[in-house]
Amino acid sequence: MTSESKYRLDRLFEAFSLIAEGNYVYVCDMREDFSHWSQTAVDYFNLPGEYMYGAGAIWEEHIHPDDRERYRQSIDSIFSGTDSEHDMQYRALAADGKYVVCTCRGVVIRDLDGKPEYFAGTIKNHSSMSYIDTITGLRSLYGFFDDLKAASWKKRESNAMMIGVTGFSNINDIHGYTFGNAVLRQLGNAISGAFSNYGGVYRLDGTRFAVISRSLSVERMIEIYNSLREKVSYELFVNGQRISLSLNAGVIRIDDFNIDSEIIFSCLKYAYYESKNRYLGDTRIFENTLSIDNRKLIERLNVIRSSVIDNCRGFYLCYQPIMYADTEKFKGMEALVRWKHDVYGHVSPAEFIPVLEQDVLFPELGRWILRQSMTDGKRLLEKYPHLLMNVNISYTQMKQSDFVSDLISIIEDTGFPPENLCLEITERCRLLDMDMLKDILVVFREKGIKIALDDFGTGFSSLGVLRELPIDIVKIDRQFVQNIEQSRSDQNTVMFIASLANAFSTEVCVEGVETARMRDFLRRYKITSFQGYYYSKPIPIDEFIEKDF
Ligand code: C2E
Ligand code: CA
Ligand code: CA
Repeated sequence: MTSESKYRLDRLFEAFSLIAEGNYVYVCDMREDFSHWSQTAVDYFNLPGEYMYGAGAIWEEHIHPDDRERYRQSIDSIFSGTDSEHDMQYRALAADGKYVVCTCRGVVIRDLDGKPEYFAGTIKNHSSMSYIDTITGLRSLYGFFDDLKAASWKKRESNAMMIGVTGFSNINDIHGYTFGNAVLRQLGNAISGAFSNYGGVYRLDGTRFAVISRSLSVERMIEIYNSLREKVSYELFVNGQRISLSLNAGVIRIDDFNIDSEIIFSCLKYAYYESKNRYLGDTRIFENTLSIDNRKLIERLNVIRSSVIDNCRGFYLCYQPIMYADTEKFKGMEALVRWKHDVYGHVSPAEFIPVLEQDVLFPELGRWILRQSMTDGKRLLEKYPHLLMNVNISYTQMKQSDFVSDLISIIEDTGFPPENLCLEITERCRLLDMDMLKDILVVFREKGIKIALDDFGTGFSSLGVLRELPIDIVKIDRQFVQNIEQSRSDQNTVMFIASLANAFSTEVCVEGVETARMRDFLRRYKITSFQGYYYSKPIPIDEFIEKDF
């Protein structure tokens, strides 16, 4: 085989692979009967190699005896030139000794003289295609879940790590998707190289990979990860170009086997996003809070998760008033979720929201919170027609494609006026696609829904979010006002945020006002409203209705 024809074959192969989406690809140079097959097919069916002479005959050996005759007839008529299309279903023998159903399609490509030149097509493996990631050849998210479940069933203690890349979209933007895919493949290789001797390596989705290992301790995993991290920031070469990637990772110990693998996955994602958000660009790895001493937490999360499935049973909302800073008249309220259980008692949202918001079920709870708060809010409208009902929205909720339509139908169902609704978002929403987010917020603005930016100043990019998005209210976190009377730096921070918000014509709400002295002190800054225990702790709606704020 000449190097020129191999080059052409490989180019064709690349082109096919790009569009094959989960299928195995084969390209055959018919004159030489020389083929190139997907590595994933080679592995799955235990074929001699990616490049094969006489692949048709080799493959025939793998086909179920009852289906072989049909297959042979079709291939014969392709090679003799009487037929130019191949489209059939048959059973093929996989490396594990089992038959799987495959759909095989192919076409003959002819040269200028009309002679058959190439035969190319795809094979769809009905049983396992989604278990293999076609870009990296690694097991996919489904494979990861299977192995996670298997670890639980077999009661095997193991550790799982999630590894991902920061700023990968830049690579796609600058070099294009094909190059981006090559980078992912290379990264997958690097992760495999580091970990595959110790367990399974997976590509989950996007730029996120995972490792499950029985033999490595968490500490050893972190060591290996750290050297991998250093390596891919200096020594990753793709198509001759040096690429620098910055990685993040989260780890979890799997040692409690009665836990749903979904909650393990949510905890792992939580740890990963902590590494990504909180330690942005830092070499630190966030080892989650869910190690041995926190087993109780993960157990509780498991029960909380089942509550969501059980129509959000056990969840309830408390409301905390928000007052005008100057007149101390009632301005609105914030809905704060709680969870109550016979065994665990009342559990604060700070304990379960950060992990649960990573869970596929969270939008379910999010809808419940919206519906409940608007239903409760309606009961107060007569007394406070201008009230603003603040509801916290997690960025993972906004990521859902049906978030806007869900919200609108809840508004319609409950009959709560959208002008009385204020959604509290955090700067974490910068993890979403900014254009998508802007579109969402424009729709809200048209409907009269207000947007508050919660926890302002606690993250990296509060200012960036304030600049880019139409924000109505900025909420200053309690941590900046706790010691406001003594701390010069807190005073400067509050003053700075207030004047910044002012420059953007944005209202300012200060949280955590606990005493009259704090209130008096804070009045020297340009602040619109106060929220805190000084006025009231969060209380259930019936109690709220009884009170006069
Ligand atoms: P957040 O949105 O910043 O809520 C304010 C928190 O500060 C609440 O804690 C509230 O009870 C507390 N707080 C208010 N005034 C004072 C005060 O004067 N002193 C002190 N020490 N604390 C005060 P909570 O209710 O425990 O909520 C914690 C966090 O959980 C919230 O922080 C929010 O991030 C999250 N969360 C609560 N409810 C929801 C929800 O419905 N959806 C989502 N996505 N997150 C929620
Ligand atoms: Ca809030
Ligand atoms: Ca807040």
